[in-house]
Amino acid sequence: IATTASGTHLSINEALKMASGTRPVLAVLDDNGIPLYLGYGERIATPGQRLALIARDKGCTHPGCDVPATMCAAHHVIDWAKGGPTDLNNLALVCDHHHAMVNDSEHGWKTVMLGKDSPHRGRIGWIAPTSLDPTGTPRVNEKHHLAGQIATEIEISCQQWGARAA
Ligand SMILES: [Zn+2]
Repeated sequence: IATTASGTHLSINEALKMASGTRPVLAVLDDNGIPLYLGYGERIATPGQRLALIARDKGCTHPGCDVPATMCAAHHVIDWAKGGPTDLNNLALVCDHHHAMVNDSEHGWKTVMLGKDSPHRGRIGWIAPTSLDPTGTPRVNEKHHLAGQIATEIEISCQQWGARAA
């Protein structure tokens, strides 16, 4: 069963018929009504997606860049023209300077959404051109995530101190 914005209940078939020719938005909510996922059938990120990007990325995602979120655009990790959706898990905050560096040429940078095999799961990784980094290792920007970095460093220091004390 689907529910319209005005609260009307419809069958899925009726909802799909109504949605044809419109701009579909898919929102997945948790038990408390908090959005877990917001997908949008348009190239431009919605205000809600932009707020979620600000909460997640906090600023430009390029490693070492300190440009704040207010001066960043929403970048498609998989290009919109290549079928990349305007979904949170395919968007990243990127400043104009670093946005211009993303391309398919041999000198271009690539962006990826880091998966569960990464310690930075759910964040954007940047892969340098092979002339800069032949390993192709995705790197994240810690500039806007210092609190987490400091907590990790404190944890490591405590573990080392614990190892020495033992
Ligand atoms: Zn940047």
